[in-house]
Amino acid sequence: MPKKDVTPMMQQYYEIKNQYPDAFLFYRVGDFYELFEDDAVKGAQILELTLTHRSNKTKNPIPMAGMPHLAVDTYVNTLVEKGYKVAICDQLEDPSQAKGMVKRGIVQLITPGTMMNSSPNQAKENNYLTSVVSTSKGFGLAYSDVSTGETFATHLNDWEAVANELLSLQTKEVVFSGILTNQNREFLQKANITVSEPVKLDGEHAEVSYVSQKLTNQAEIEASRQLVAYLLSTQKRSLAHLQVAQSYEPTQYLQMSHVVQTNLELVRSAKTGKKMGSLFWLLDKTSTAMGGRLLKAWIERPLLSASKIKARQDIVQALFDDYFTRENIIDNLKGVYDLERLIGRIAFGSVNAREMLQLANSLAAVPEILKCLRDSGDQVLVDFASRIDPLTGVRDLIKNTIVDAPPISTTEGGIIRKGVSSQLDTYRDAMTNGKKWISEMQASERKNTGINNLKVGYNKVFGYYIEVTNSNKDKVPTDRYTRKQTLTNAERYITPELKEHEALILESEAKSTGLEYDLFVKLREAVKKYIPVLQKLGKQLASLDVLTAFAGVSEQNNYVRPTMLANSGTIEVKNGRHPVVEQVMSAGSYIPNDVEMGQDTDIFLITGPNMSGKSTYMRQMALIAIMAQIGCFVPADSANLPIFDQIFTRIGAADDLISGQSTFMVEMSEANEALQHATKRSLILFDEIGRGTATYDGMALAGAIVKYLHDRVGAKTLFATHYHELTDLDQTLKHLKNIHVGASEENGKLIFLHKILPGPADQSYGIHVAQLAGLPHKVLREATTMLHRLEQQGAGELQPASEQLDLFNEPKIPAISDNQKDVLDDIENIYLADKTPLQVMELVSQW
Ligand code: ADP
Repeated sequence: MPKKDVTPMMQQYYEIKNQYPDAFLFYRVGDFYELFEDDAVKGAQILELTLTHRSNKTKNPIPMAGMPHLAVDTYVNTLVEKGYKVAICDQLEDPSQAKGMVKRGIVQLITPGTMMNSSPNQAKENNYLTSVVSTSKGFGLAYSDVSTGETFATHLNDWEAVANELLSLQTKEVVFSGILTNQNREFLQKANITVSEPVKLDGEHAEVSYVSQKLTNQAEIEASRQLVAYLLSTQKRSLAHLQVAQSYEPTQYLQMSHVVQTNLELVRSAKTGKKMGSLFWLLDKTSTAMGGRLLKAWIERPLLSASKIKARQDIVQALFDDYFTRENIIDNLKGVYDLERLIGRIAFGSVNAREMLQLANSLAAVPEILKCLRDSGDQVLVDFASRIDPLTGVRDLIKNTIVDAPPISTTEGGIIRKGVSSQLDTYRDAMTNGKKWISEMQASERKNTGINNLKVGYNKVFGYYIEVTNSNKDKVPTDRYTRKQTLTNAERYITPELKEHEALILESEAKSTGLEYDLFVKLREAVKKYIPVLQKLGKQLASLDVLTAFAGVSEQNNYVRPTMLANSGTIEVKNGRHPVVEQVMSAGSYIPNDVEMGQDTDIFLITGPNMSGKSTYMRQMALIAIMAQIGCFVPADSANLPIFDQIFTRIGAADDLISGQSTFMVEMSEANEALQHATKRSLILFDEIGRGTATYDGMALAGAIVKYLHDRVGAKTLFATHYHELTDLDQTLKHLKNIHVGASEENGKLIFLHKILPGPADQSYGIHVAQLAGLPHKVLREATTMLHRLEQQGAGELQPASEQLDLFNEPKIPAISDNQKDVLDDIENIYLADKTPLQVMELVSQW
């Protein structure tokens, strides 16, 4: 609110702040950025700044907190990482030249989805801003990483799909138009996603139509326009690096929900949330940040097309076979900087001469890389090379313009090579000549005056001067020298010629730095024209980087090229391994296992004691499938695989914190996802389904789910269970096979063999484990008797829940103890009408 009686500066502040009510306004005053009013109070707290007050003497002092402008980045990052927005308000004119109030304006709005100041450890992460429009036919969704300009768009039928996409993209901010239900809002809040209003732009902006030019779906077009409008309005400059949006359908890729990706620890470990221990960590032997980001994107979107998979495999194969070429490529890739982000900085106008040179040096590595590919003699690699344009023209342009070791600053000269501009060279000659004249002056004046220790010096306040010590003062030619400054033991003088040359030097210096800046900007604009081809080159190098990493990892870890049989309906993995578990175990200790599922087998019912390796076996299968579909080789002796369209999981522990549902509810909704959406071509991993509820309830559900999958879905399913009763299902379900993880006993110790064997497990392992744990003999005996009794009762056949309850009635339960008798007596004698509910509860808890 503009207030009465405020200074013109505060008046200006309030006017600007009113336009950005939801952002922290960083208001530049001299060498500081200041926060005022509520921003100051809140900012001081979050950023640990000192809160002071402006106009302290008046009745209403204004809260204020400030920071030196050079330190601003850290403060901005802290706020934005916490989900806030920051509007940077700069002085738009030189305060010394300004008439009246200095003009100020917002130069950039930094938001969670548009933050670019990424530290090196974020180099392999994208920061996506997402835009969602809700239409009568569903949702349009578009997203972009403003640092690289990559842009994608899709359309989705329901909010669940949108939510899943937002989580998978790890988007921090969504620009949303349409109505959000409270539930949706709550979801976004829990997922730490900032919701921003769409913005309307004034006038036409080329970027808007450029980005959406290839889209045909109306919702996608709207989402992408909304995205670009928001980017332009926050960045407040042209965004020449924004790429034409690529439309995609989630069904173009192997589909996995965000929960599935989390469960399978594709890009981060479930335990630590860190990259270490994930598939991404294992495969990421890339040499460039671009390669790292592309690998992550590939892992999240494995391919469905056999020919595309084969194309990747062919290159991996060639590099796998040729160690020399591979190592050479890696050496050269190490010289390639983050082209995509450098290009972003060029488009942004924030690039400096050193970064420009990084671009040129990166380009200089390309012909070397092409040579490696061609020299390999492998046709696949030769073909790959033939598709790459090394853009030598751009490299030469930069190299021929910029000196070898330019300074960071673009405004202080020293950037442009000699010979680039004759005008610049003239200024520079003038400078050199002037400086030369001055340096010669010392010798000539010593001669003229006979003062042997006469010196010519320079300081910032007085410029050039002649210094004479007090002992020689009397020899000074006062007709030519004018005294300028007196020191304790010397005097400083100037002469008209000295000042003339000085003026010449300063003038040419100013002109030359000004011209250097202009030439640099000209170069930047020239390179800007190449942005699309540079981006294409960046992508090609990134792919090569990932494929080279695949080849290296595959060779080092003894992976094998899988044969993809798109619709075969069979899986044949010989001696498969879990790629990550194998890595963290000592060499050779991982026990490989086969997965052999013919066309007539859809379900493996896996039994075996806890900790025997059921879950590892199932995950192993999923990871092998994913690795195969991203084009990598797989940890096995041989593998024939179908191309899976979707992967579903229900794997313990990783509860969905965001939805806040109970464990059992999560378990059931994940199971439901699979039952509803899986096809014959899907892979399902179900681990201990039904564990979250009462035993018989759970068993009955698990049994019914197996039957449904068997009769209706026909997806390849690995179903681990501790309900031994289910193993009888193989009698009735002909596509189901029992397998178990072997264990043996040695000297009274249970040894896990981690080996998958045919048939169901011997169910007395639980009791063995209890025995090893040292449980009292009495308990073990009792358990063994109970077990036999249960077996005799034929619990193996699934019975309706009412019958199962009979198990606990007399006379089938074991003899009861005295304590139990007391409780039963109590129950018989209780007169319920006499008791309040609270009293009943107390009684129950006593029993
Ligand atoms: P379950 O699901 O049966 O409880 P897990 O799959 O979690 O068992 O495996 C338990 C542990 O056994 C794992 O942490 C791993 O260290 C080890 N393990 C599993 N499979 C193998 C294997 N094939 N070879 C060697 N060790 C294994």
